[in-house]
Amino acid sequence: MYVIFLGAPGAGKGTQAAEVAKELKLAHIATGDMFREAQKKGTALGMKAREYMEKGQLVPDEITVAMLLERIAAPDCSAGVIFDGFPRTVTQAEALDKALTKQGKAIDRVIYIKVAEEELLTRLGGRWICRQCQTPYHEVVSPPKVKGKCDKCGGELYQRDDDKPATVKERLKVYFAQTAPLIDYYTKTGKLAEVNGVGAVEAVRKAILGSLKKGTPARK
Ligand code: AMP
Repeated sequence: MYVIFLGAPGAGKGTQAAEVAKELKLAHIATGDMFREAQKKGTALGMKAREYMEKGQLVPDEITVAMLLERIAAPDCSAGVIFDGFPRTVTQAEALDKALTKQGKAIDRVIYIKVAEEELLTRLGGRWICRQCQTPYHEVVSPPKVKGKCDKCGGELYQRDDDKPATVKERLKVYFAQTAPLIDYYTKTGKLAEVNGVGAVEAVRKAILGSLKKGTPARK
């Protein structure tokens, strides 16, 4: 099964994608995590991506698509993938469709996690991420048991540079201009299912799993 998690920054894509991928035994591909990993390693790709990420802008399609296509060719992707943070432009969506078609595969479902803009601003402001396993926490909504430490692996929690207020605003602007058109793109394919992203993490997860098990997606 090939599933896309679509939604604004802060909608909860990363949190949900990690758990749902584990539950359904699918590979979890998060392009943002891949770029951050490349930066940590100091590769040329990481350095290039940093120029855009620190401004809250999208990394150019040709760079992002090339990285993604290499990743989906890996053996762990053959049973299915949850795409988290990709595609973010119509060009990326078309490139993914083309690549999957070549392999005789296709996107099965697009889960659109909907959260109002005001709530997104609050969430991104209080977000802390584990340096080791990338698990996200929130000061108010989902704090770790021990301040500054990851519940899962004990790793150190940090605040992403691009979660600072000015960059958050730019990321949301970029989302509405370049990524939100994908809602229409996938609605037209009949594959989009909308899930309310506001509520307990567990409740949202149940709604996503329910939607993935259902035959026909419905947009509310
Ligand atoms: P994320 O962790 O998904 O919020 O992504 C963090 C940043 O990485 C974004 O603000 C972009 O600069 C970059 N990025 C991640 N995924 C993509 C993508 N599919 N296309 C372009 N840039 C991306």
